[in-house]
Amino acid sequence: IYTADEQLQVGTMVTLDREASNHLSRVLRLRVGSEVVLFNGDGHDYQGKIEAIERNQVQVHLLQAQEINVESPLYIHLYQGVSRGDKMDLTLQKGVELGIKEFTPIITERCGVKLDEKRWAKKIQHWEKVIISACEQCGRNQIPKLNPVTPLSEAISKRSGQDFFLHPDAETQFKSYGAVNFEQSISLWVGPEGGFSEPEVDEVTRNDITPVALGPRVLRTETAALAAVSVINSV
Ligand code: SAM
Repeated sequence: IYTADEQLQVGTMVTLDREASNHLSRVLRLRVGSEVVLFNGDGHDYQGKIEAIERNQVQVHLLQAQEINVESPLYIHLYQGVSRGDKMDLTLQKGVELGIKEFTPIITERCGVKLDEKRWAKKIQHWEKVIISACEQCGRNQIPKLNPVTPLSEAISKRSGQDFFLHPDAETQFKSYGAVNFEQSISLWVGPEGGFSEPEVDEVTRNDITPVALGPRVLRTETAALAAVSVINSV
């Protein structure tokens, strides 16, 4: 269970926020005396016992801290064209499970989602929750980074590392691209449902982002991102 408390110390008590408390007491129906594992993103699992549940607030006594590393040795950064509905949620959830360390949602010409600043901020908050629940589910105690929603050109200007642009028409198949340096961060750029426009394809290729394909079929955007991560993980 995630807690935003940055100073977790064995021997002390932690009061969980309303959401985590509800999850433990109402969804999981845990009671005083139940054992729980907390994490705050610092790379440790904190074993504890529920000491009290009062007015829907759960208090946990921390008994032990253990450094546990389930992180992938690879640094994968996904630049994902913002997709509609719950597709982004799916990409983030599965991306966390597959070990992605950084996500940047990108705005492109064919993005179906157009929001004002306030609503983008809400979306980011929602996506942060999706990332945290995925960490809880798969046992990651280091939380992947979620960058602000960024226009494509701005993201390109800030990029660093080895970048691959997932493109159905690319001549090179990603799985047979032999020059990936696994010691360095690997960035994957995936278009939204409608793909990248022609000028965007020109822009990314002009900026040394290598076009690669994932087989002969056109994949949905959420499939493409996960398939690309799996290709990297399997090498
Ligand atoms: N007609 C669009 C096009 O040609 O780009 C299809 C877009 S596809 C539904 C959404 C995104 O998934 C694409 O922008 C690309 O990044 C990725 N994608 C889908 N199929 C792919 C494939 N076979 N190889 C590489 N990337 C693919």
